[in-house]
Amino acid sequence: MKLWRPLVREAASGGAGTTDNLRVTTTLVWLTRAAAKSATSRLRDLGILPASVDWTARAVQCERCPLRVVRCGVSYCGKPFLAMPLRDPATDGCGCPTFAKAKDPSEHCPLDARHQPAEASGDSCNCKWCSLT
Ligand code: SF4
Ligand SMILES: [Zn+2]
Repeated sequence: MKLWRPLVREAASGGAGTTDNLRVTTTLVWLTRAAAKSATSRLRDLGILPASVDWTARAVQCERCPLRVVRCGVSYCGKPFLAMPLRDPATDGCGCPTFAKAKDPSEHCPLDARHQPAEASGDSCNCKWCSLT
């Protein structure tokens, strides 16, 4: 992927400083996670991995959410990830396609019911989706 090449080149050269190295490393970690999420989403669409039982209710919340962005007919949680790799999910959204995100049982909404940053601790989470149940 073209986006990776300058990041890998900068990481290999040591970058301009510690802050730049940290930014490059963080971006590479996020890109790796995004690629893994995309792969598991395909397996879920094929029925190989289970989907969240209440994914339609989650997806409905996304369709009503002010962070939702539509690109090429697809709903995203904020701008698509590759358009903005460095982001704060509570203000920018996570960049995932909302249907795929809603189907993933391990995913959570970054916002609570009052559109403040959601908080998770142990088994408890106050995100919009977990507040549905
Ligand atoms: S996951 Fe949460 S913040 Fe993202 S679009 Fe859906 S409802 Fe909005
Ligand atoms: Zn949650």
